[in-house]
Amino acid sequence: MSTATGRIRELCHRFHLPTVGAEAEPRFVAAGQATALPTLAEVLELEAEDRRQRRITRLRYASKLPPGKTAATFDAMRLPPKLQHQLGELAGGAFLEHSSNVLAFGLPGTGKTHAVCALGHRLLEAGHAVYFTPAYRLVQELLAAKRDLALPRALRKLDQFEVLILDDLGYVQQDTAEADVLFTLLAERYERRSLVVTSNLVFSQWDQIFRNPMATAAAIDRIVHHSVILEFDVPSYRTEAAKRRTDRSLPETQPSAAKRPMSRPAEPVGTKSPDLVGLNQTSESKTSLKAGEDQEGEEIVAGRWQE
Ligand code: ADP
Ligand code: MG
Repeated sequence: MSTATGRIRELCHRFHLPTVGAEAEPRFVAAGQATALPTLAEVLELEAEDRRQRRITRLRYASKLPPGKTAATFDAMRLPPKLQHQLGELAGGAFLEHSSNVLAFGLPGTGKTHAVCALGHRLLEAGHAVYFTPAYRLVQELLAAKRDLALPRALRKLDQFEVLILDDLGYVQQDTAEADVLFTLLAERYERRSLVVTSNLVFSQWDQIFRNPMATAAAIDRIVHHSVILEFDVPSYRTEAAKRRTDRSLPETQPSAAKRPMSRPAEPVGTKSPDLVGLNQTSESKTSLKAGEDQEGEEIVAGRWQE
């Protein structure tokens, strides 16, 4: 079988065109047109690429990912090498096969949201279904669904996404009902679908999210089991950017400020508020909670390429 014939069969199978796949070659040969088979294969390749692009467009639209927060606009070099490496690995998408979670911790402005959005864009470009939402908004939506007795349906909808990005978990104080639906969501996805979470709160402060120690421990246990933890232990990007602007506007006669190296960490202005210090507790809690090893979802079409 020629390469062209093999490719024609393969692509026709993928496009659910079994008769074309089986009949194209013998009929072209019988008509004395065997030399046209490579051209037919080429046309089918164009169709495949077009379908791939259309699918990515659908996935991107459904993902609600902020369009500008991509890898192209993200300066990964300002992150520690370990974090750069972790993000690179995650972009390969292998963690989705194990339904592992990704937890990004760090002070405000350190790039957590941008980094996980860039990761989300990379994953959807590889054909994975991703959904991005601020955590508080999803909690409100689930709560409304629960009131309407439609929580299972809302959860099933989320289930179509291989990756659910919950941004800023714990940013808003929650009441018990809110904590409840959030817990239900975590339990639903546990070991079945991946979650990517960003939070300014270290685990020791998660009782503020889940309201009681038992629920907090159970939530952490589920989310940490099979997880990759990303520690954004870097200065706030906003603070640094503001500082660069200030430095540029200073006259040359103030060398001490103007000549400060840009790469130097910004003073932690407003970043060491008492409830946010203690990033190190992340790793402690991680250890004590047996954090999983670094291992590695149309409507939106669960799973992979479906053409
Ligand atoms: P966090 O979620 O940690 O509070 P964000 O991701 O919202 O931080 O980042 C704050 C702002 O700084 C955003 O506008 C973001 O695009 C920008 N930013 C942060 N880190 C980087 C980076 N490494 N490269 C480019 N822009 C960044
Ligand atoms: Mg954020």
